[in-house]
Amino acid sequence: EYDHDGSSEETNIHVVVRCRGRNEREVRENSGVVLSTTGVKGKSIELSMGASALSNKTYYFDKVFSPAADQSIVYDEVVAPVLEEMLAGYNCTIFAYGQTGTGKTYTMSGDMSDTLGLLSDSAGIIPRVLHHLFNKLEGDAAESSVKCSFIELYNEELRDLLSLDDSAKLKMFEDGGRKGHSATIVQGMEESHIKNAIEGIKLLQDGSHKRQVAATKCNDLSSRSHTVFTITAYVKRTTEDGEDFVSAGKLNLVDLAGSENIQRSGAENKRAAEAGLINKSLLTLGRVINALVDKSSHIPYRESKLTRLLQDSLGGRTKTCIIATVSPAKSNLEETISTLDYAFRAK
Ligand code: ADP
Ligand code: MG
Repeated sequence: EYDHDGSSEETNIHVVVRCRGRNEREVRENSGVVLSTTGVKGKSIELSMGASALSNKTYYFDKVFSPAADQSIVYDEVVAPVLEEMLAGYNCTIFAYGQTGTGKTYTMSGDMSDTLGLLSDSAGIIPRVLHHLFNKLEGDAAESSVKCSFIELYNEELRDLLSLDDSAKLKMFEDGGRKGHSATIVQGMEESHIKNAIEGIKLLQDGSHKRQVAATKCNDLSSRSHTVFTITAYVKRTTEDGEDFVSAGKLNLVDLAGSENIQRSGAENKRAAEAGLINKSLLTLGRVINALVDKSSHIPYRESKLTRLLQDSLGGRTKTCIIATVSPAKSNLEETISTLDYAFRAK
């Protein structure tokens, strides 16, 4: 049982929305555009729910990105400040949450073809973070080291995307740390030290490729699995009294399972989750975030693998950002409403 001491801690959860443009299929099927935003980057999103403007619904978030917002705007506005927090020693997490096909993987990974140190315009958050991080560390005289891990969670089982052994299932256990802040240890997880951004991007490419290969054999894997790419940076600092210490910060970049995996069966249906009909980790993540927002005395970290894995990065002295991705098309309206409702509850 882990009780959360919420007394002196603020909740540091940011929620932003990113809308993509209509895709070819939505245009071909003549599915109308049902959402409108203000400018490239605003704070509100309006949904047309029916024929009359009276039935429109407006949601407010920390930020709302229109289809015109490119990868670099999203990075600069959402991720760059989180990198600063990570370097200041916080454990940080960025989630991409949304219906399958709305741009979670595009947002998190995007184009990863960079092998020469040149980011493509379509490069997503992970390649950009790696570049930005190493630029900062190289411009800093302090000694530092960086390591990465990359895992996939499917049906409450963990798979190491950096391991050469494809079938290896990872086990997790608690390290029995301080109450409410204990970390989870993943036994046998590969943690690769990287010397530059290109080495990190190579790990992302290889791990993503491995996932792609597995997804062609198992058709619901890509929509029902979560991936967690974690970057940990250690920087040697000196206190004013001349004492050396190591500041460690962690950044988890999480590409979640498609949100339709909880919504179809009703978001709060625990029994359906246990029967494997809905995604237990996705459902529990919502509960954990709601409990943190409500400053509840019990945070149900232990109820899913994903929340156990991220336990030391959710709540307490941490920073969390949820990027909710949505389609503008009328044919996806129901899922869009569910996504915005889930995201709104996290505020
Ligand atoms: P998800 O991971 O949520 O299932 P993807 O990231 O795979 O969705 O996106 C589905 C398709 O839409 C991909 O071809 C992707 O390149 C494209 N896409 C998604 N978001 C955008 C965007 N903001 N701008 C351009 N293309 C996008
Ligand atoms: Mg995806």
